[in-house]
Amino acid sequence: MPELPEVETIVRGLDPVLRGRRVEAVWGSGLPLHLNRAVDLRALRAVAVAQTIRRVRRRGKYLLVETGATDGVVIHLGMTGRLRVQPAGAARAPHTHVVLALKGGDELRFADARRFGWVEAGRPLAAVAALQALGPDPLSELDAPALAAALATSRAPVKAFLLDQRRVAGLGNIYVAEALFRAGVHPATPARRVARRAPALLDAIRASLEGGIARRGTTLRDYVDADGMQGDNASALLVYGREGEPCPTCGAAIRRRVDAARATFFCPKCQRR
Ligand SMILES: [Zn+2]
Repeated sequence: MPELPEVETIVRGLDPVLRGRRVEAVWGSGLPLHLNRAVDLRALRAVAVAQTIRRVRRRGKYLLVETGATDGVVIHLGMTGRLRVQPAGAARAPHTHVVLALKGGDELRFADARRFGWVEAGRPLAAVAALQALGPDPLSELDAPALAAALATSRAPVKAFLLDQRRVAGLGNIYVAEALFRAGVHPATPARRVARRAPALLDAIRASLEGGIARRGTTLRDYVDADGMQGDNASALLVYGREGEPCPTCGAAIRRRVDAARATFFCPKCQRR
């Protein structure tokens, strides 16, 4: 599943290509996407057709294609969603479900084999329920006092707290494991007991995410970014996916545990409870 660094990488690839381009038409496959919901093509046309794309940006794991001062298109890649800009004459990939046709002959194409992704009009973007439900973005909106205050109110394990998109937007399993290792925090520690360490935890979150962005994301499945390039962050991960390998800090064997059906990787010495 694409995580925040993958989405940020895609945004950085798409923004210079799409900025200033005029949308001429919107096409849909007619197949439902996330939660078997139909894509509202009429609403997409209302925000996009005859509009100029102002910029492409990210909030959490959502891509926002701004087409007006307040309006735009919201895209979530789900498990297998991909975005490409390709010439209109090039064959569309299998499982292409939404296409924005651009003036000059290119198309922004959303393809999604498993259809867990989502494309929705925001009119305005601020009114989109999924965006309203998101907590602060860890790279651009969250600060240590706010994180400390939020941690202090939660008895949940800190791993579950960080994965909760209402608490912090965009963190997934990989980068939570990496951040908790960098901060020396055991994943099962109650969130409120980590509140005093919020500055170090936020630094660790940012370092993990920025490392992923610098390497264009992590390739664990068949993820390919907007330029068709594979990310290479997998080899740089410190603990995720490294059960039994030596901890890069102390040499103890990395352990794997499963909480709420999600695997966690941690060092039993560096991350004591
Ligand atoms: Zn260690």
